[in-house]
Amino acid sequence: MYRFKMHIVHVAAEFAPICKVGGLGDVVTGLSRELTLLGEKVEIILPKYNFLKLNFQKEIPHFHVKEKNELIDNAMWKQEVEGCNLHFLETHHPHQYFNRDKIYGYDDDTPRFIYFSKAVVEYLKLKNEPIDVLHLHDWHVSTIALLVKEIEQNKLSVKKIVLSIHNIEHQGKCASHDLTAIEIPHDLTEPLKKDDPSFPETVNLLKAGIIYSDTIVTVSPTYAKEILTSQYGFGLEKVLQKYKSKLLGILNGLDDKLWNPETDPFLKQHFSASDSMKKVLSSKQKAKKTISTSSKAPWVGTISRLVPQKGPELIEEALRKTVEMDGVFVILGSSPIPEIQKHFEYLKQSYKDNPNVHIILEYNEELSHTLFAALDFLVVPSHFEPCGLTQMIAMRFGTVPIVRATGGLKDTVFDCENFSNPAQIRNGFSFQKATKKEMAHTIERAFHLFKNDPIAFQSLIKHGMNTDFSWKRPAREYLRIYQITDKQSLLDRFHYLRTRREISSQF
Ligand code: ADP
Repeated sequence: MYRFKMHIVHVAAEFAPICKVGGLGDVVTGLSRELTLLGEKVEIILPKYNFLKLNFQKEIPHFHVKEKNELIDNAMWKQEVEGCNLHFLETHHPHQYFNRDKIYGYDDDTPRFIYFSKAVVEYLKLKNEPIDVLHLHDWHVSTIALLVKEIEQNKLSVKKIVLSIHNIEHQGKCASHDLTAIEIPHDLTEPLKKDDPSFPETVNLLKAGIIYSDTIVTVSPTYAKEILTSQYGFGLEKVLQKYKSKLLGILNGLDDKLWNPETDPFLKQHFSASDSMKKVLSSKQKAKKTISTSSKAPWVGTISRLVPQKGPELIEEALRKTVEMDGVFVILGSSPIPEIQKHFEYLKQSYKDNPNVHIILEYNEELSHTLFAALDFLVVPSHFEPCGLTQMIAMRFGTVPIVRATGGLKDTVFDCENFSNPAQIRNGFSFQKATKKEMAHTIERAFHLFKNDPIAFQSLIKHGMNTDFSWKRPAREYLRIYQITDKQSLLDRFHYLRTRREISSQF
């Protein structure tokens, strides 16, 4: 049946690989590319960061944005990247808001992105094209939902606003005057305070997105449920509970060109799900040899930012237990937190004479690809994990994940000894409580299977490699959500339940 193309506009701070800090950038690119391939009219609006070196074409030479009663000059540029139509806001703001070397990490991050949000709305008004879906990503652009619904409702034609929450830990906190600076009246900023007794005057930008969007999407179904609780909601659980009829979760896809063991330029020997197990295992041995001498002992490792979210104390416990059981352990990671970085430097020093321990405290793209193929087990013991990419990459590369059952880890890894999981979806090991005891016990279980039942271990590899982690499935799910209009919130709920069933049935 013929269907009109939808006009979908994404607004975000990141787009991989040109301006990426984390998973947010991967999602915006992966989803936009797939929706474009499906024939939709997709546009992405980003700030024009100083460090972007592209062949920009000018789209609008001048337009004004009012901030603190001053008219500030801006321009809009466009450029195709990764097969997607990108628009870049250049601002001549006196504070050089985007003429910086990094995307975030500045004291004025909130006013920078509030200004960006206002400028995007002015640009959309100038373009004056009807929009089917305005898809906003994270707190940086949540203010747009408030502007469209409360201030510019008669000047813009937007059928539906979707907000993606990639990690609720980051919320965009600021003062009321940051919003009144762009002419948002005071009475609209009051409800954006978070009932936080320690900071009663603080305005929360993500809260604006939650209140004013029509649908809220998180990056996995389990995370959508978790953020309704005080353990995972970072103080926004109450407001989310109020709006939970519009909240759902869609598991992220993986960039299957970047993460493909059949073509990966960093691998010594290529392999794929259709190859024999003998070839998969021999490729693993070759990858091991590029890191160190390969032994018959199981290789366990992690490739991760070393931050509290990722359970660094549990990573250390996995290392201790692996060494005790004569396995090989590899850590590839680094920490922005000096105490954690120092602690891992200390561990590196303590194990320097042990040839079975490799602690590489850096960001190394090439080594990460080799390691995903070399490891037998990848450990991801996160305290919370909105989606998580490394467990999916590991499975694609024939490595068995060992994870804590939270967020996207719970939605993708199905324990091999949990017989309530159908046999064909069992693909790894998972544990419930983020304790050292459970971590160590799960390493023991994994070693036991590896040493005593190679056929069962190899079937975990096969199940992981055979799973479709591409953007095809999630993009179709987003399309279905985009097509549901406001008035169908009940249908939305139904869809949420159906989506969850479809996700689990495809493994
Ligand atoms: P998060 O976005 O919370 O850091 P994800 O699992 O979603 O965690 O994604 C992490 C990404 O960063 C993966 O692609 C992983 O391979 C990569 N990565 C993390 N640490 C390193 C490192 N030290 N060197 C190379 N790649 C890394």
